[in-house]
Amino acid sequence: MIKIIKEKCTGCGLCVRVCPYNAVELINKLPVIKDNCTYCGECVRACKFGAILLEKPEKIKTDPKDYSGVWVFCEQKKGAIQSVSYELLGEGRKLADTLSTGLCGVLLGDNIRDKANELIWRGADKVYLVSSPELTDYRPDPYTDILTGLIQKHKPEIVLAGASSIGRSLIPRVAVNVRAGLTADCTGLEIDEEKKILLQTRPAFGGNIMATIISPNHRPQMATVRHKVMKESELNKGLSGEVIEVEASEASLRSRTELLKQVEEVEKTVNLAEANVIVSGGRGIKGPENFSLLEQLALTLGGALGASRAAVDSGWIPYSHQVGQTGKTVCPKVYIACGISGAIQHLIGMQSSDIIIAINRDPHAPIFKTATYGIVGDLFEVVPLLIKRFKEVLK
Ligand code: FAD
Repeated sequence: MIKIIKEKCTGCGLCVRVCPYNAVELINKLPVIKDNCTYCGECVRACKFGAILLEKPEKIKTDPKDYSGVWVFCEQKKGAIQSVSYELLGEGRKLADTLSTGLCGVLLGDNIRDKANELIWRGADKVYLVSSPELTDYRPDPYTDILTGLIQKHKPEIVLAGASSIGRSLIPRVAVNVRAGLTADCTGLEIDEEKKILLQTRPAFGGNIMATIISPNHRPQMATVRHKVMKESELNKGLSGEVIEVEASEASLRSRTELLKQVEEVEKTVNLAEANVIVSGGRGIKGPENFSLLEQLALTLGGALGASRAAVDSGWIPYSHQVGQTGKTVCPKVYIACGISGAIQHLIGMQSSDIIIAINRDPHAPIFKTATYGIVGDLFEVVPLLIKRFKEVLK
């Protein structure tokens, strides 16, 4: 908190000038601190009269030894578990096994007892299930309150959630409540086996580097992960576990917002995220007219058409086809990259595809380092040959 000592302030305005966030205003010759203040302390250091005091909030310490278990917040929509939750259960299982701890799913909704079993069959040892008509659809207040309460009570060491619209709304609120750090949009999660902490990797500085972020001192360690970055855990109905039904208090079910209506987005184009085969074109495709060649290949294989940002930015194909950091994350069985160099921002969006085939005339193109199969050649020669051959084989 910032305190102004009126008796010492001369109204010189230096604090206003030095504030890098424009968060100090002079009203009636007295500094007033605005809501966007980050408590950086620049004004305190600048004040020659000692008229500004910074009282930092007491540090809240959590003892890592008190926390155990890996939790996955499992998202449901209209009672159906969203596949990002299965992806996180797959990843969570690996993390929990490395830490020799349990994996727990948290499920909020209404009439979804049977869905809790699905989470067990996907690898969770335990599921906390909170059921109430008020939880049918996501609403920030009750979901935040309930998840916060569960974390405070059971103290997991790691909490994972999808970087979906729900996860992006819910998890930062919960992280603030439990005073934990949060790494959003992770593309990789691992355990530092020596220190037993979560290594959270995500693109940083505009995607120019991959940063690995740690939260060594606070628990839980919280991360969100985009849909399709990780592999779904296999369904195994032989797995068993415990479903713990938790009753939500009346107070925690209160909401300041009301859901008036849900409007389904009508997909005008192919759903890239769900396609099994994707044929993508980059700057090497040379112009919008040549996408029809890739479209023919995609149609032959029953696939969808993707693109690099360079192709989208050139106006050759709509943004809905863009794959990568600022586009869609995809995980098809086969990804065919045509005339795409393989910049990190593109790779982030497709590198977990099962098979990657790269066609590029530059043998040193970085895409070949990620590709399962590389074809060095002119795409305008290679793609027609592929179409011809696939048509023969698939007839
Ligand atoms: P280029 O890098 O120009 O590569 C074209 C390739 O085509 C070359 O390798 C060339 O050898 C090959 N080629 C040319 N002619 C032929 C031919 N006839 N036959 C075969 N090969 C040929 N990019 C994305 O894709 N998705 C994103 O979401 C994304 N987000 C970004 C976010 C940020 C913050 C930033 C800074 C960048 C982002 N980018 C993204 C851009 C990214 O850095 C690259 O610039 C982009 O991916 C390059 O696209 P490209 O591979 O199509 O083009």
